[in-house]
Amino acid sequence: ASAIEQHEIKNLQIRYTSVETSAVLKFKDIPLSKKTLQGLQQNEYTTPTEVQKESIVLALRGLDVLGAAKTGSGKTLAFVIPVLERLYCMQWTRLDGLGALIITPTRELAYQIFETFRKVGIQHDFSAGLIIGGKDLNFERKRLDQCNIMICTPGRVLHHMDENPLFDCSNLQILVIDEADRCLDLGFQQTMNGIIENLPPKRQTLLFSATQTKSVKDLARLSLKDPVYVSVHENA
Ligand code: ADP
Ligand code: MG
Repeated sequence: ASAIEQHEIKNLQIRYTSVETSAVLKFKDIPLSKKTLQGLQQNEYTTPTEVQKESIVLALRGLDVLGAAKTGSGKTLAFVIPVLERLYCMQWTRLDGLGALIITPTRELAYQIFETFRKVGIQHDFSAGLIIGGKDLNFERKRLDQCNIMICTPGRVLHHMDENPLFDCSNLQILVIDEADRCLDLGFQQTMNGIIENLPPKRQTLLFSATQTKSVKDLARLSLKDPVYVSVHENA
């Protein structure tokens, strides 16, 4: 990274501890890189939702977050933004391999998340890929080696982990579990456990769901370290 970027990163990191959610009105009030702020602006995102404010500020500090907020409250950007920022601040490059793994229950959701990364991450230099089945395994295998950010459905990614001992997650920094409640409703509990077993324990985990069921809390216990709970009930 250039000296200017290193200077920017240092200044951002200094602000992580002092920024207060209550003082955040716009995305630009959160310590975010120019690249991310530009990506947001280009897509006309100016004002963070409640779950975004809370989760982003905590996740930037490196904490594990369990975010619960209803469908449509903007949970995607609540993890897309910190994933981009964390990798940017680590000065992650394409050569560093897989830095973030995003698990979501369906192909459609995976596509939507991929699109959000593509749009909001447009100024960044990370590679993102989808592992959702429906394409041949060889194609996906090659992708695995080249991606910094991987968006996948549970069964498919565990399949790759099981069949390919060289599937290299050893550098993984961030695990995101999106729609954790739906993952569990769809019977992915064992699959989720299997995936988590394959990941390095020293990582950040961000877990999002629309509801806080007992099984979501069980999954959280399994995958999160001293999580901060963010629960948003927005009034109409
Ligand atoms: P959830 O995952 O909580 O169901 P999504 O992340 O899919 O919600 O977001 C729902 C919709 O709200 C999407 O169309 C998204 O583009 C839009 N959205 C998310 N965050 C913002 C924001 N800060 N400002 C404007 N629109 C937003
Ligand atoms: Mg969602």
